[in-house]
Amino acid sequence: MSLTAYKETAPTNSYQFTSGAGYELPEYAFVAPPELHSEKLVRHPVVIVGGGITGLTLACSLARLGVKAVLIDEDNTVGVKGASSRGICYTQKSLEIFERLGIFERIAAKGVQWSVGRTFAGEDEVYSFDLRQQGNFHLSSQPPFINIQQFYIEGFLVERIQELGVVELRWQNRLTGFEQNAECATLTVETPAGTYSIEAEHVIDATGSHSPLRKWLSVPFDSRRGDDRWCIADVRFTTRPPVERHTWIEAPFNENRAVWQHLMADDVWRIDYQMAPNADPEYVSREDVVRERLQRQFGADVQVEIVWVGPYAYRSECVHGMRHGRVFLMAESPMR
Ligand SMILES: Cc1cc2nc3c(=O)[nH]c(=O)nc-3n(C[C@H](O)[C@H](O)[C@H](O)COP(=O)(O)OP(=O)(O)OC[C@H]3O[C@@H](n4cnc5c(N)ncnc54)[C@H](O)[C@@H]3O)c2cc1C
Repeated sequence: MSLTAYKETAPTNSYQFTSGAGYELPEYAFVAPPELHSEKLVRHPVVIVGGGITGLTLACSLARLGVKAVLIDEDNTVGVKGASSRGICYTQKSLEIFERLGIFERIAAKGVQWSVGRTFAGEDEVYSFDLRQQGNFHLSSQPPFINIQQFYIEGFLVERIQELGVVELRWQNRLTGFEQNAECATLTVETPAGTYSIEAEHVIDATGSHSPLRKWLSVPFDSRRGDDRWCIADVRFTTRPPVERHTWIEAPFNENRAVWQHLMADDVWRIDYQMAPNADPEYVSREDVVRERLQRQFGADVQVEIVWVGPYAYRSECVHGMRHGRVFLMAESPMR
């Protein structure tokens, strides 16, 4: 019995109005999958669609457990091109999981440990904490937080999966069609060398917020669009601010709106500026406008290298169910 049968091309994730030299991301070679040259349909126990942080974390966990799986990703690199540092603060609990997966040492060597946070309203410090002073943080061998750009974690996961050798990673393999029945799911995959089909007992949808599977399966969800607008600036300074998390609930240098400030790997600071609800995302991300904002915060003489700038807004969506036949929705595909 056929549960669903859809054929449609998925939209590629993309981010508008970004600028800056950006980051250098690793590139992974396309290798023609065996199915391209075979008439026989191969059935895999697990196919993971999407090699972002969640798809790769699952792939690494399965590899550790010796569960065979195939992961396909439409890109040839980690993360989403043009989408900056993205997730940056990794908590003790996440670091414990990364320790189990075998990548904690790499994260600790590259990232920045911090435990002190300060919150300001105007010029006044209204709250501060040092997580190392709180007893429960000593129950773990991982630090309270490590800041690191999301793509580094994804790159370490790729390395680890390759070391473990149980899960096959297929780059530039894009899911473009899907159907499922009581027996299995059949996925249509487009590659630079042609299109092929693959069967799966379980499909993990880790394609992120633009999930094509969620659309094809007509998964019901609740949605709410916030009017909160932000602009991220990833910058390098000649003079370093303290290695602490600073937050302003009212920042005089940002028209009394909020600001978050964190140090990440490679001496890059991530500063998130809250914008007016009706702010034009293209205007607020312009390099001259960003430089002016940085000068208001750090002084007219501040010397900065802009690594990346981009606007973002929140939309919350939550699906009514995580499992749809053979498809399991994961991370940002079911909610964001
Ligand atoms: C500008 C910005 C700033 C952010 N800041 C933070 C932050 O400070 N803290 C935080 O916690 N989070 C932050 N996030 C959110 C965080 O990045 C996401 O929650 C996280 O990336 C979701 O992971 P994911 O694996 O579900 O999806 P994604 O990271 O989106 O990965 C999806 C993957 O699926 C692949 N894919 C998509 N469609 C297909 C297809 N048809 N076939 C094959 N592959 C496909 C893509 O190539 C991609 O690799 C930010 C995001 C953005 C954009």
